[in-house]
Amino acid sequence: MEKTLFQKIADKEIPSDMVYEDEHCVAFRDISPSAPVHILLVPRKPLRDIASATAEDAALLSHLMLKVGDIARAQGIAESGFRTVLNTGEDGGQTVPHLHIHIIGGRSMQWPPG
Ligand code: AMP
Repeated sequence: MEKTLFQKIADKEIPSDMVYEDEHCVAFRDISPSAPVHILLVPRKPLRDIASATAEDAALLSHLMLKVGDIARAQGIAESGFRTVLNTGEDGGQTVPHLHIHIIGGRSMQWPPG
C-alpha cells in the first residue's frame, strides 16, 4: 500500500518543520498556515479520518487528545486559546486522507467558521 503524504513526513522521507514526535504520533507545522501557530498532529497509524477509527484505536485517540494540550503549551498558545479542527471527507474539507488534528492559534478567531 502506498504511503500517505503524512506517513512520508512521519518517516522523514519528506521534510517538515517537526515540533514533536513519539512512537505513536508526529506534529509538524502546516505548510500553509492559517494563523501564527498552525500545527498538524498526526498518528503514525494511517487512519483515513476520525470516522474510520474503531474501539481498537481508543488508546491512540486518547494519546492524541492529551498531546494537543502539551503541544499548545509548548507553542505558547494554551493560555491565550486555540482551535482544534478535524476535517473529515469532502464536505468537511479534508484534503489529506490521513487523520490529522489541526492546532491553530496565535490570533483571535471567529465562530462559526466559513
Ligand atoms: P485538511 O484540509 O484538513 O486535509 O488539511 C491538510 C493540511 O495539510 C492543509 O492545511 C495543508 O496546508 C497541509 N499540508 C499539505 N501538505 C503539507 C506538507 N507537505 N507539509 C505540511 N503541511 C502540509
